[in-house]
Amino acid sequence: MKRTNDGGARRIVVISTGGTIASRWQGTGYAADASGSDVLATAPLPEGVTVEVVDLFNVNSSRMTAAHQLTLLRTVHETLADPGVDGIVITHGTDTLEETAFLLDLHHTDVRPVVLTGAQRPFGTGDGDGPGNMYDALQVAASVSDLGVLVVFDGRVHAARGTVKSQTLAADAFSDPSAERLGRVGFSRVDIERQPERPTPLPLPAAAHTAVPGAIGPDAVALPRVDIVTHHSDGDPFLLNAAVAAGARGIVLEATGAGNATPEIAAAVADAVNQGVLVAVSTRVPAGPLAEIYTGGGAVDLVAAGALLTGTLRAAQARIAVLATLLAEGGAGDPARGTALLRRLLEGPVRVEPALATGGSRSASAVAARA
Ligand code: ASP
Repeated sequence: MKRTNDGGARRIVVISTGGTIASRWQGTGYAADASGSDVLATAPLPEGVTVEVVDLFNVNSSRMTAAHQLTLLRTVHETLADPGVDGIVITHGTDTLEETAFLLDLHHTDVRPVVLTGAQRPFGTGDGDGPGNMYDALQVAASVSDLGVLVVFDGRVHAARGTVKSQTLAADAFSDPSAERLGRVGFSRVDIERQPERPTPLPLPAAAHTAVPGAIGPDAVALPRVDIVTHHSDGDPFLLNAAVAAGARGIVLEATGAGNATPEIAAAVADAVNQGVLVAVSTRVPAGPLAEIYTGGGAVDLVAAGALLTGTLRAAQARIAVLATLLAEGGAGDPARGTALLRRLLEGPVRVEPALATGGSRSASAVAARA
């Protein structure tokens, strides 16, 4: 489907993957089933924007797999191979949107924007937030440059990195609890207030990692298993060891506080690392950085055991960083190289324009006004 408003000055490709923005009542609950064209038809087009739709998947994002995400990553790169495309909007369920956005961002080398959006209220409801989010996402995709992969939701523009789903039902579903949003969109303006921090992007993973979503049997390509294990009072190493026994090549320990667990878990981390498993330590606390403060099973001991702290990244995005590291390093990966790459992805953000960090504001509204 192709829709044009006013001569098609900016050509945006919408890639539809499902989620609440495409969900209809199924008799017992909601599930994604509306096409990308149907979703697009709910929203007005910003002036001067031409849109083409790619229906890639139609899933609730709690069912998203690495195979889906890698297929989407390749589709994004293939779409941007066309120099006539000015930007991409991806409609996606909100549940795992932060994971997909971060995987795309870690591999995004283009100045053209990739904008993820979705909805908290289902398709076709009078009070739905999908149409407004779609309009805003198109406007941002038609307006900004060199900001990496973005999340546009409820009038806010977020960097992929660090952004999490922080509301289960409310319209302002996303935030970075450790940083400010990047900007705002509304009233025909896109205002970008700061530059995102991004490590040097990774090359696309080898084609061998392009698995078929949902495939079993010969079509299924083994992707590295990466598990998240949460610590809590009474926590023991059982689940961490079970992850290793299940073949995990990477584990994110979602620790307490600034990155703390127990001496027994630190010993299990050392065993896992000695077996070549990449271990990253995040925290179940919503905001703030990990820090080496405590021994007795704390972050001091977990780091000594060979784990890496994840900065302000929370577990789901830390898991994506581990997965991306394993995909980049391939089967023959040397553990030291994997550790060095993961460290760069976890810690390596480079502030692109320091001037903007001092509170300067850059408005993209001039471009947006044209769109
Ligand atoms: N279950 C939905 C999903 O696909 C939730 C949403 O999109 O808001 O993630």
